[in-house]
Amino acid sequence: MTPHDCPCHSGKAFTRCCGPFLSGKDNPRTVTQLMRSRYCAFALGGCGQYLFDTWHPAHRGALQPEDLDARELEWLHLSVVDAQQTGDRGTVEFIARFRDAQGTEGQHHERSRFLREQGRWRYLDGDVR
Ligand SMILES: [Zn+2]
Repeated sequence: MTPHDCPCHSGKAFTRCCGPFLSGKDNPRTVTQLMRSRYCAFALGGCGQYLFDTWHPAHRGALQPEDLDARELEWLHLSVVDAQQTGDRGTVEFIARFRDAQGTEGQHHERSRFLREQGRWRYLDGDVR
C-alpha cells in the first residue's frame, strides 16, 4: 500500500479516506463510507476491533474482535454498485474481488444493510447475490 492509495480502491489517500475511521479519529457519516472502511479493515487485517465495533451487536453472534483480525483472503478490488440511505437506515450493494490462499480468484456480491444509532453506522446483515 502506498500512502496515496486507500485499500478500498477509492483512489484517495488512506489518510483522507478510511484511515481516520479505522483509527477512531472520525466516524463515517454515510453508509458508503462505513462499508468502504469495513472492506478496508478486512483487506488490511488486524482491524478486528473496528469490524467488531461497526457490526451491530444483535447480528454479530459470538464473534470476538480477535476472530476478525485474520486476513484470510487477499482483497483485490471493490466496486460499489449502489448505495441508498433513508434516515438512519441504508443499504450498499457491492462487488468485492478476492484471491484465496490457493491463488483462486473469486468475487463476493452482497447487498448489505446498515443502521445508524446514536450517530454511528453499524453493519446489520446482507443478502449475498
Ligand atoms: Zn478508503
